Formats: sequence, structure tokens, C-alpha cells
Amino acid sequence: MKSVFVVGAGPAGLYAANKFALAGHEVLLFNRDIKPGGLAEYGIYPAKEKMKSGLRKQFAKILSQPNLHYFGHVPVAAARSITLDSLREFSPSAIVCAIGAQGTKKLGMPGEDSTGVYSAKDFVYHYNQLPPFSSQDFSTGKRVAIVGMGNVMVDIARWLLIDDPERKTEEVIVIARRGPFEAKFDHKEFDHIEQFLDRSAFQQELARIHGHLAAVGQDPAQLASATFPVLAKPDSGATRPRLLFHFLCSPQAIHAGPDGRIERLTLGENTLVPRDGSTAAKSTGRTFDLDVDTMIFAIGDVVDPGFGLPVAGSAYVTNPDPADPKRAAYEVFDPASGKVVPGTYVVGWARKASEGLVGVARFDAEQGAAHVLKFLESAPHQPEASTDRVARSLERAGLQFISKQDLAYLGLAEQQQAGERNIPSFKFSADADMLAAIETEKSRAQSGNLVSR
Ligand SMILES: Cc1cc2nc3c(=O)[nH]c(=O)nc-3n(C[C@H](O)[C@H](O)[C@H](O)COP(=O)(O)OP(=O)(O)OC[C@H]3O[C@@H](n4cnc5c(N)ncnc54)[C@H](O)[C@@H]3O)c2cc1C
Repeated sequence: MKSVFVVGAGPAGLYAANKFALAGHEVLLFNRDIKPGGLAEYGIYPAKEKMKSGLRKQFAKILSQPNLHYFGHVPVAAARSITLDSLREFSPSAIVCAIGAQGTKKLGMPGEDSTGVYSAKDFVYHYNQLPPFSSQDFSTGKRVAIVGMGNVMVDIARWLLIDDPERKTEEVIVIARRGPFEAKFDHKEFDHIEQFLDRSAFQQELARIHGHLAAVGQDPAQLASATFPVLAKPDSGATRPRLLFHFLCSPQAIHAGPDGRIERLTLGENTLVPRDGSTAAKSTGRTFDLDVDTMIFAIGDVVDPGFGLPVAGSAYVTNPDPADPKRAAYEVFDPASGKVVPGTYVVGWARKASEGLVGVARFDAEQGAAHVLKFLESAPHQPEASTDRVARSLERAGLQFISKQDLAYLGLAEQQQAGERNIPSFKFSADADMLAAIETEKSRAQSGNLVSR
């Protein structure tokens, strides 16, 4: 039996930890958030309650293993009290980093820091009630531009058009670098918002870009069977709020008003050119302006450069050794020394930022775990990293970490809140409230009241 530390308890970290625990190793799982689940808890659309509760059950089963120890509310980062190096002082045989893609992709354009300009991940964290994003200002206005044409764009449009309790939005304007044939969303996701598509504006937009599509052999008559099945359905007329698309354009500058909030966006026009059997966007040099009061970038994320691992592109650097490409893909590589970082691995979205659904993150984590298990067979035997020693050290660092027992108390408190409000489920949206609820349930349990409740 060896000790394995897993940092990050999203799907990738949990499925990897499961493999180590099932193999009989002692697993210590550190997570930034109080609750486990990562984007499965705080990213997947709130209305997908069946999927979310199914995943929660799987995660609870994984966590229930006695040789798996949970340390929630423990961010690991180069500038925090717990760093990768401080974890290494406990001599785990391997450290697996599954912290997802927590950085923000910036385009480096003027005005990017204006009020009302958000990254999709932060916005999604906000409406899924992840502290501290839950209590931060993510105010939206009447005209919201969303940059990107994937499922995350659809989720955000769905929130703004249907489920946002404030529902101020009059127009969601999707900004796409390429054309309608390059839309990346799933049809069943788009079904949720298709009734808001302004069909006559959409046809005008297709007429505007017709020449560009024809130049790369794309025929708008094929759109209904390709990416926009809604076009085969009857048009039910004008709607409010409405969904608009601006194809073949890229944001170039954000202009803020006197209050610092975005009020206008300069877009550069593109045309399509063939590239490697697909298409690429090429600037025409022309620009135009669009009045918007909110802008959300849904163009994928990058990893957090402050975590303490080398970054290249959007993800952490893994071993490029061509001799063993499979193993190579998971072990961390330090370009400065030209060597692998022994026993340190990345899995999930930390390895391939923003790539795929939970099933993909699970597959990646389990593949990575198989490589780690192989490494553990020959890894030198380290003195076992005692959970008590780690717990004491976290306490000394002033961290109020969350254990599996605490998660059970939190679950009880949330159930009770749901009961009192007569709603199917309830979620605390501030760390302080979660910590207080845990303490209350703990005292109740200690005074024996738990049994009678
Ligand atoms: C808006 C959105 C909607 C989605 N909808 C769906 C869907 O409907 N269906 C589906 O199957 N998939 C969906 N996905 C994809 C799915 O969420 C991902 O595939 C999956 O969550 C990636 O798992 P991960 O564990 O690699 O990363 P994450 O889920 O991001 O988990 C990372 C974990 O690491 C922790 N962490 C981060 N930084 C640190 C740190 N410094 N120290 C310690 N811990 C840290 C976090 O607390 C978190 O628990 C969606 C994704 C997004 C963004």
C-alpha cells in the first residue's frame, strides 16, 4: 500500500481517486471547494437535476471508501499556504493534479477589463452558486453578446432567455468567428433555446454571408440537416426576448461608457478559407460596431498558471517523450530542466483544458490512473503519509478543512433547508453559511439530537 495525493475533486480527481482506493492505496483528496464535484456540481446546467444527482450519488459512493480521505476547502497554489511542495513534504508516492482549467482565456483586446465583461466559467459558477462567484457582481443588461458557438454558449443563452430570475435580457447575440456550418453545439441542447431564434434576422444574416459560404462550397440549404435543425420547423413568428447570430466576425475592441460598463463592441469581419479539410477564419480588414451592455466569452478556458506546474498553451506540460506516448501524456514535464517531474501527473481538464463532457474527463482520469498505478508498482516505498499529520498541518496553516463527515452534516443541513422551504433541493451559496451549517449539525449530533430528527 502506498499514499497517493489527488488535488482536485471534480469528476477527473474523483474517478482517479476511486481507482487508487480500489487498488488498496491510501488516498488523500484535496479540493479547493467545500463540496466535491467541480463543474459537475457547479458547471452543469441547474435544470439537469437528474444528471447532477446521479453524479452526486456516484461521487458519494467513491468518497465512502475508508482508505479515501477528503480535505475540502483547501486550495493548493504557489502563492497560498498549501503548495505542491508543501504536499511533497508528506512524501506521497505520487501526486495527481486534477484541478481542471481554472484560468481565463484573454484575447488581449482593449477594454477587456470593463464591467459587464465575463468569462463563461465564472458566469456559470455564479448561477450554479459556487462561492465566491455566487456573491460577486455578474449583472447582465438588455443586449448580451456571447462569444463562441458551443454547448456552453447554449447553456448561458438558456439561462438568460429562460431561467434567470431577473430576466432583463431582450437580445442574446451570438458572435461566431466562423460560419453556421461550424456551430459546435449539440442539437438536443440547442432545442432548449431554438424558439427564441429570430428567424427573419437569421435569414438576413445568411444572405449577408452567402458569398463567403459559397466560396468554400457551403450551401445554406443544407443547414437544417447539418447544424440548425430548427430551420426545418415552421417559423412561429417574432419573439421577445430574441436570439441573434453574427457569423464571420471576431471581437477587436470593447468600449466602456462613463460608468466603466461595456456599451459597444468593435467586431472585425472574417471570410472563410479552406484549411486541412475544414475551414479557417481570415480577416477581411473591415470592422463594424455593435451596441451591447454585457459580453460573455464562451471560448474555452486555460489552466491556472498560479498552481505551480509549468504551462504551455492552455494546459500543464506533460512528458513529450515519444518512446512511450501513452505514459508520456500524463506525467508532468518541466521544460526548464528538460526532465519529467517524477511521480507527478495531470488528468482531466487540467491535462486537456475544456475538452469534453464528464464521460471524457472520467476516461482520461482512469487512463491516467492506470499509468500511475503502474508507476506505483516500482515506486520506492515512502513512509506512509499519515492523514492526522496532514490534518494537523492544515490546521496550523489556519485552514478550516472539510472532512467526509462534514460533508454528511452539510448534506443534512441542506436537506433540512429544502424541507423548510418545501423545494426539491437547496444549496448554500456562501462558504460561511456552509461552515456554520456544518457546525450546527455537528453540535446537534454531539448532543444526541441527530437520532431523533
Ligand atoms: C458550463 C459547462 C457545462 C457543462 N455541462 C455538461 C453536461 O451537461 N454534461 C456533461 O457530461 N459535462 C458537462 N460539462 C463538462 C464537465 O463539467 C467536465 O467534463 C468535467 O467537469 C471536467 O472535470 P475535471 O475534474 O477535469 O475538472 P473540474 O470539474 O473543473 O474540477 C476541478 C476540481 O478541482 C478543484 N480545484 C481547482 N483548483 C484547485 C486548487 N488550486 N487546489 C485544489 N483544488 C482545486 C475544484 O474545486 C474542482 O473540484 C460542462 C462544462 C461546463 C464548463
